[in-house]
Amino acid sequence: MSERYDIAIIGSGPAGLSAAINAKIRNKSIIVFGNEDFSNKLMRAPKVDNYLGFYGVTGKDLKDKFKEHISSMDINIIYEKINNVYALGEYFTLMVADKSYEAKKVILSTGIEFSKPLKGEEKFLGRGASYCATCDAPLYKNKTVAIVGYNEESQKEANFLSEIANKVYYIPMYKCKYDLLDTIEIVEDKPIEIVGNLKVEKLILKEREIEAEGIFILKDSVPPSELVPGLEMEEGHIKVNRDMLTNIPGCFAAGDCTGKPYQYMKAAGEGQIAALSAVSELDNK
Ligand code: FAD
Repeated sequence: MSERYDIAIIGSGPAGLSAAINAKIRNKSIIVFGNEDFSNKLMRAPKVDNYLGFYGVTGKDLKDKFKEHISSMDINIIYEKINNVYALGEYFTLMVADKSYEAKKVILSTGIEFSKPLKGEEKFLGRGASYCATCDAPLYKNKTVAIVGYNEESQKEANFLSEIANKVYYIPMYKCKYDLLDTIEIVEDKPIEIVGNLKVEKLILKEREIEAEGIFILKDSVPPSELVPGLEMEEGHIKVNRDMLTNIPGCFAAGDCTGKPYQYMKAAGEGQIAALSAVSELDNK
């Protein structure tokens, strides 16, 4: 049986890392999911003047400091994207493409996605539109798919899909050098709308249309309500109380995903509260 962690933390930005150090200090077994850069938003900040003790640093400097801090505490990040979290009473199951993890408490610190959903994205979710290529790839064996990739990591998923699907179109929503297999067709155009009847039929772009049975929208984060079924939202953010507890017992949230202001110290502070609340529930049990 796989290890059941005390606390699983989804997201490696300031909220998630703050939750991680606080839970670790309280001797809880933790697992943290995120990415190598910790947070794209951290990497992009040219100058940060409002993080106490670090006046005038760049976001990259701050990231290096965070790295030093968590490494000193033997905290590792698992570079995996969680696609679903299921509350199963006493514990949670967290699904990655081909495996799962278990934890008694979960802290959602997934940040906020500013890009708007495509027209038709929500309507066709589960009917040809998907947020996870590796999870749904088998459904598209020998079929045509289009991938709207919002980050370099989506290229890995595109390469994986191209081994299963008959034809893969890749629509990058960022600029970089591509590392894609030759069979993948890169389409530099702006996606506008997903259309179909009962199922997805095509993706309409500004300059052309692509007929496809599957359309994958790969962003840094999955919308929270898709990530955790039954999660209560309020004006686009996860609804929490002062303990950072969501409507789902044992599931906490912290950082940008809970609402404005979108700021580092607010995120780190909420990460701490979420961790201490989770620890308190574990200890009271
Ligand atoms: P994020 O930093 O967004 O981190 C979330 C992490 O979770 C990401 O790494 C993401 O990949 C990961 N994740 C999401 N979903 C999953 C999943 N399903 N599985 C695994 N991992 C997942 N704030 C300030 O206070 N001062 C500033 O000077 C400042 N400057 C900024 C400049 C720029 C250009 C930008 C974009 C933002 C700036 N901010 C600033 C805002 C600040 O970056 C955010 O408020 C802060 O990063 C929020 O932290 P967070 O931990 O909530 O989320």
